Amino acid sequence: MTQPWSIYTPAELAELAAEASPLTHNRERRCPTCGHTAVRRYLHEHQGSRRSVNMAYTWCHRCRRYTSSTGPSLAGTYRFDDPADELARLRRLRETDLPGLLDHLDQLWTEGVLPQRFERRG
Ligand SMILES: [Zn+2]
Repeated sequence: MTQPWSIYTPAELAELAAEASPLTHNRERRCPTCGHTAVRRYLHEHQGSRRSVNMAYTWCHRCRRYTSSTGPSLAGTYRFDDPADELARLRRLRETDLPGLLDHLDQLWTEGVLPQRFERRG
């Protein structure tokens, strides 16, 4: 049976944040929980009712820890692809099913659809 997804602890999140890499580095990072270089991420712009926000999902392929966060829109700073433009299943899971979304994102990374490519504007 596959291990369920569980959220990073605050201490693990602090460690992840301390080793944060620029968005343009689209490689797996070291996981503070299991130590493997297996931390992946996916970001997308979400159109809110008043403004856009950026939703970020970060997860470990090996130990299935994850975190998600919301921040200011990145559209003005970066150009980046979003596979959800082509993938209705990804769009649907984003709205309805967090564990299912993480499973799907992890599979997309393994298949080479992710990571996204970020390019700084200007
Ligand atoms: Zn891990």
